[in-house]
Amino acid sequence: MSFTSFNLHSALLQALSDKGYQQPTPVQRQAIPLILQQQDVMARAQTGTGKTAAFALPILDRLLNSPVQSTELRALVLTPTRELAQQVQQSFVAYARHSSVKSAIAYGGVSLNPQIEALKAGADILVATPGRLLDLMEKGVVQLDKLAFLVLDEADRMLDMGFINDINRIMRKVPAQRQTLLFSATFDNNLLALSNKLLNDPKRIEIDAQNTAASQVEQIIYNVDADRKRELISYLIGSKNWQQVLIFTRTKIAADALAKEMCKDGVKTQSIHGDKSQGAREKALADFKSGKVRALTATDVAARGLDISELKYVINYELPYIAEDYIHRIGRTGRAGSSGTAISLLSVGEEWLLEEIETLLNTRLPQQWLAGYEPDASKTTKGKRPDSKAALKNRMKKQLGLKNGSAKSKQRKRR
Ligand code: AMP
Repeated sequence: MSFTSFNLHSALLQALSDKGYQQPTPVQRQAIPLILQQQDVMARAQTGTGKTAAFALPILDRLLNSPVQSTELRALVLTPTRELAQQVQQSFVAYARHSSVKSAIAYGGVSLNPQIEALKAGADILVATPGRLLDLMEKGVVQLDKLAFLVLDEADRMLDMGFINDINRIMRKVPAQRQTLLFSATFDNNLLALSNKLLNDPKRIEIDAQNTAASQVEQIIYNVDADRKRELISYLIGSKNWQQVLIFTRTKIAADALAKEMCKDGVKTQSIHGDKSQGAREKALADFKSGKVRALTATDVAARGLDISELKYVINYELPYIAEDYIHRIGRTGRAGSSGTAISLLSVGEEWLLEEIETLLNTRLPQQWLAGYEPDASKTTKGKRPDSKAALKNRMKKQLGLKNGSAKSKQRKRR
């Protein structure tokens, strides 16, 4: 199947050919015809599946086929993070490059003025994070009353990040008569409640997470002592001559500390996380993409939406507390059909995190040792999981509405 079968505007086909896209991805195949038929759509598809083009192309097609004279906003895309907003807007710019459709961007952490100027110059499409959009609406710079399209991208993440009140406030200003598209990596009850409220008789699309992330990404789990994880990472990067490695930590402190220590090991590393200024994050990312730094340490939120083409290696210094984040993390590699490797380092006390990921993926991820980094047997048998971690696990499970103790009891049985 090729993109021509959607009957898209020639300006879009030209842009797709510039990008070198040969054929639509599964989510594009399913979503584009529905959106062109003016259906509301809710799609379970994560970053890495080609979901941005799945909504951007039909929206652009409809805007191109119904041009208006005014400079009013006709499409709004809400995203949870600045990085995703940038990436989505860059996609709109790329796909619209042979047309006169204009897009603008709005996210927090940077000065308002350039964003205000861009909006005043006129934009058909706005890609925004909720907080900054509200600021701009309060200043009277953005009016949403002529919107024909509303997209909620990574809607699950927006709810996780506590944007529900912001979203509700924005919704009060959006016309009832509109087409609404919701993309999310997961659908839980909160998300279904949101979609019931915002979408009108939506068509549902499910793109299997395992078909996208797991099938193209080789997943390796190394058992290693916690205090040797950094050493192992520096060894892998150095001995295998890996040039671009994204490393996930659970906390900002760990991201900074790991980057610092890896620099001492001789591996040029920078960190990105929410406490860094937008400028520092952008610089770190640019240095990483250009090869000036070899490794980037990142927290989940900071890395959400990062699109680094040809990224081959992702390392989980620590597994995430939320199993779904594992899929997002490893989805940074193996994008759009290319292959990638995701390595997770597992030390004593972290097994329950792996069990939850295995449950989510419905697959076993075999564990192995790397020669020279075998875990210390005495620590393996004597090591006790600190209470705080068990407490944290229960709290996280409660927040996620899961029953307590399943992974723990399984783990006890295995010992
Ligand atoms: P997304 O899931 O939207 O973040 O897209 C993931 C990556 O796939 C981006 O780098 C896109 O440029 C790329 N991509 C999207 N659609 C296609 C396609 N049909 N063929 C090849 N690459 C694509």
